[in-house]
Amino acid sequence: MKVLVIGGGTGGLALAHGLLRAGIEVAVFERDALRTDGLHGYRVGIDPDGSRALHALLPTELYDTFVATRARDPKYFNMLTEDLKEVLSMELPPVTDPIASEKSISRMTMRQVLLTGLDDVVRYGKEFTRFEQRGDEVTAYFADGTTATGDLLVAADGAGSRVRRQYLPQAKMEETGIIAIAGKLPITAESTALVPPKVFEGISLIQAPRGVGCIVHVMEFQWDRDGHLKSGIGGNTEELIRQWPGLQFDNTRDYINWGLSATKEKIPANIMELTGRDLMDAALELTPGWHQNLRRLFELTDPGTCFPVNIRTSVPLEPWETTNVTLIGDAIHTMTPGRGVGANTALRDAVNLCRQLVEVRDGRSELIPAVREYEAKMIDYGFDAVLKSRAQMTSDDPAHKPVIGRVALAGMRTVMRTVNNVPPLKRRMRDSMLAYRGADREELELNL
Ligand SMILES: Cc1cc2nc3c(=O)[nH]c(=O)nc-3n(C[C@H](O)[C@H](O)[C@H](O)COP(=O)(O)OP(=O)(O)OC[C@H]3O[C@@H](n4cnc5c(N)ncnc54)[C@H](O)[C@@H]3O)c2cc1C
Repeated sequence: MKVLVIGGGTGGLALAHGLLRAGIEVAVFERDALRTDGLHGYRVGIDPDGSRALHALLPTELYDTFVATRARDPKYFNMLTEDLKEVLSMELPPVTDPIASEKSISRMTMRQVLLTGLDDVVRYGKEFTRFEQRGDEVTAYFADGTTATGDLLVAADGAGSRVRRQYLPQAKMEETGIIAIAGKLPITAESTALVPPKVFEGISLIQAPRGVGCIVHVMEFQWDRDGHLKSGIGGNTEELIRQWPGLQFDNTRDYINWGLSATKEKIPANIMELTGRDLMDAALELTPGWHQNLRRLFELTDPGTCFPVNIRTSVPLEPWETTNVTLIGDAIHTMTPGRGVGANTALRDAVNLCRQLVEVRDGRSELIPAVREYEAKMIDYGFDAVLKSRAQMTSDDPAHKPVIGRVALAGMRTVMRTVNNVPPLKRRMRDSMLAYRGADREELELNL
């Protein structure tokens, strides 16, 4: 069995590791020509589901490197007003389990981790254009005029998937009406002093009138500005990072990251064409009256790191007839960042598909029934996550309406302040937040 994976992002690379370990022939075709192309140094929250999937798919030492290269664990989840007053602050449990736990990960670092050991598997500069199915085989065509033929083609080519466009033309993407602007600034004495200590040590959500929201993350790594290991790191972690070749391609350094979001009509119409300082100005125009420290964070941002995101979502599909083309991750279930589970769901897909292909390897299933079983499960949890993520980020939310929005915000703050002051309520809220991110779910196991 030969598997062709289109797209070397989170899901595609993780799947390739599992297949390689299972002794199944796999090739990944990635559009970006260089290992460092297209990488953004932003955070992605890998939850217990995503961690379990990576643990199942990666070789043990590489999984340990993934854990060792994560950013410092956040201690608090905070909700604040736009003048930096605390509405709610929950202490997060310390990470004791390296697998079933939440991790703050730099996308760039994770990509370098996932590329480690795949030198013979990933082909760069391969922009997929179309596929053809003939008999039991499928052939992928690339923009450079080359082709590749295999038994199964896996679309892991993200939200704009060319494979999906050809294979499932009925699949639709929708605008949510929400635009986000993101930026980063290095951690310095000045930037550190701008945020309250709990914000510095946590993940913080600012909810302001008119439905304007802002998320703030602080990312601190185990290495310094020059890429040298910081002092005082534990022995095993230090050894793993020292031996890891990925660090030489990784320019991730400690930073504070903010992401502002609002409905389209509150943001300049040409926002998607703006870059750098113009995006910082748009952030400042969106936040008049916000605490001067927050506005200073926007001003101190490195313009080169700013980018706008038009938040889109897929529309759940009816099941389709299974063939030797299938899809994982954003290629099939792009979702809003509302619940922070898009990458985690892509990883869950990778482990579930890999498990089915191991069944085929061992002669317990034929290819098409195995893919059908994967798709039935994936369609279920994937589109469930799409709908729940959409409910968290939509311009239809009353929070965005002028009068009713203020009432809704005031009501929400009252409830959250009450929760903040009643420890059993706060514990219950923390536990339900951890549960929806997969803390209590069973293992995603693989018998490779
Ligand atoms: C602002 C924001 C914040 C987010 N935060 C989180 C979070 O905290 N936690 C979380 O779980 N998820 C989060 N997500 C979602 C997450 O980023 C995605 O769900 C995840 O990256 C999807 O992984 P993937 O492997 O499906 O696709 P991708 O990682 O997008 O990979 C697709 C790959 O395919 C390649 N490709 C594309 N087209 C072609 C082609 N024609 N030929 C060859 N290669 C091609 C691309 O270059 C890329 O490498 C967030 C999303 C956004 C927008």
